[in-house]
Amino acid sequence: MTLTSKGPLPSEPYDVTVVGAGVVGSAIARELAAHHRLRVALVEASGDVGDGTSKANTAILHTGFDAVPGSLEARLVREGQRLLAAYAADSGIPVEPVGALLVAWDDEQLAALPGLLDKARGNAYTAARIIDADEVWAREPHLGPGALGALDVPGESIICPWTTTLAYATQAVRGGVHLHLNCRVKKGNWVEYPAGGCRELATSRGVLRTRYLINAAGLHTDDLDQQLLGEGKFAVTPRRGQLIVFDKLARDLVRHILLPVPTALGKGVLVAPTVYGNVLLGPTAEELDDKTGTGTTADGLDTLRAKGRRILPALLDEEVTTVYAGLRAATEHDDYQIHASPDERWITVGGIRSTGLTASMAIAAYVVDLLADAAGPELDLTHAGDLDPVRMPNLGEAFPRPYQRADLIATDPAYGTIVCHCERVTRGEIRDALISTVPPGSLDGLRRRTRARGGRCQGFYCGAAVRELFDGWGESGAAR
Ligand SMILES: Cc1cc2nc3c(=O)[nH]c(=O)nc-3n(C[C@H](O)[C@H](O)[C@H](O)COP(=O)(O)OP(=O)(O)OC[C@H]3O[C@@H](n4cnc5c(N)ncnc54)[C@H](O)[C@@H]3O)c2cc1C
Repeated sequence: MTLTSKGPLPSEPYDVTVVGAGVVGSAIARELAAHHRLRVALVEASGDVGDGTSKANTAILHTGFDAVPGSLEARLVREGQRLLAAYAADSGIPVEPVGALLVAWDDEQLAALPGLLDKARGNAYTAARIIDADEVWAREPHLGPGALGALDVPGESIICPWTTTLAYATQAVRGGVHLHLNCRVKKGNWVEYPAGGCRELATSRGVLRTRYLINAAGLHTDDLDQQLLGEGKFAVTPRRGQLIVFDKLARDLVRHILLPVPTALGKGVLVAPTVYGNVLLGPTAEELDDKTGTGTTADGLDTLRAKGRRILPALLDEEVTTVYAGLRAATEHDDYQIHASPDERWITVGGIRSTGLTASMAIAAYVVDLLADAAGPELDLTHAGDLDPVRMPNLGEAFPRPYQRADLIATDPAYGTIVCHCERVTRGEIRDALISTVPPGSLDGLRRRTRARGGRCQGFYCGAAVRELFDGWGESGAAR
């Protein structure tokens, strides 16, 4: 298994290089790993996988009921939901099928529900139905006053976004993909390397040679196309979504994902439970110029609180655990921007805005099909082999956690030693993460693998103990 985070890159050329280890790039790398004869690299500018938009979303496994019918996004979300739900069940990614209620708060919104129902049917989602105000109250007793009815979408689920990316990357690396972290592909020429149809890529860790490139750089997909191919078919405008995470004591206030009627800018502000037992309020939808603008703002949080007060008034009396923001890779187009440039041996996977977590596995299959067409016999992608299954540590509240499992504690007392008391994370889980196939490069990465320091004290009490474990095992155990 090959994972590097410093030093020069291997000089032997890769057949395919995937740029960007977000949920999309990691899913593509995993799909390519099934083609055992290929030499594949996954390169990531950051020191960890899933460290961009993929770590900061609303964590909903969408049905695609509200996608634009006939669009590529509608198709890939629908297929991706089915694929990821099955993969999650096999690999231990926590998913809770809580369902969604899209609530109408005024006559105009109520009048929009039949159109949304038709749209759902146009997207081959037939389980949705309109329910009246009485049923809405019966199913969500803490809802604010004024709800007139809702579209019931029982297939919507909540999922752990962190484990999803990590599962893909883990399986890719175990399947033979080389993961190179801290490796930013730089501005330069995508020039032909004299021997054998390879190209040379300038990276922050030196030259990388590859026959084909898949650009899955998220917010920077357009920059990479522009910088290396000299042309771009779209421009990415970051659309910020700020979110508030409420304490676990709020969890009983809400049973479903409570969606608003969507607007032109997106799906609007929702209230949703998380698989970790918290409640989310958000996201905002703000067009920015700055692709690094992941901070939260007082205005953004005030807007959320005002909207949240209408949806679920009692939520606003609960403690806030944390706030965060993610940037959607919006473009001037109303669909994903996935294009092959066979002459350039290049595939662009951009504009994966607010549904990329759900669609990730279907995007990966679609991209590998495009690559097969572009490369033909040169890469021979006709037959995929099997990948060894992966089983991820459970971060979800709906399934037994290690501290609750007497069988596990009997075999290894480290699973009975709690380090992070807010999230009940044990020494055994922290150790496992630090010596795993794709270990964390930072304490934040460790939090995404274990939940340590992610609870109501945000590491105030456990921070030093977690740091000590990280420093100790990080130096001796991690593959770097
Ligand atoms: C607020 C919000 C809510 C959302 N809610 C949902 C939801 O509920 N359900 C859902 O399905 N989707 C949701 N999404 C969308 C989903 O999160 C994204 O579609 C998905 O994470 C995009 O993944 P990605 O891999 O394309 O991008 P990223 O995760 O951003 O990954 C791209 C990676 O490329 C790397 N990179 C960039 N440039 C270079 C370079 N030059 N060299 C090397 N590496 C580079 C970056 O460091 C980054 O890690 C939401 C998004 C947001 C912002």
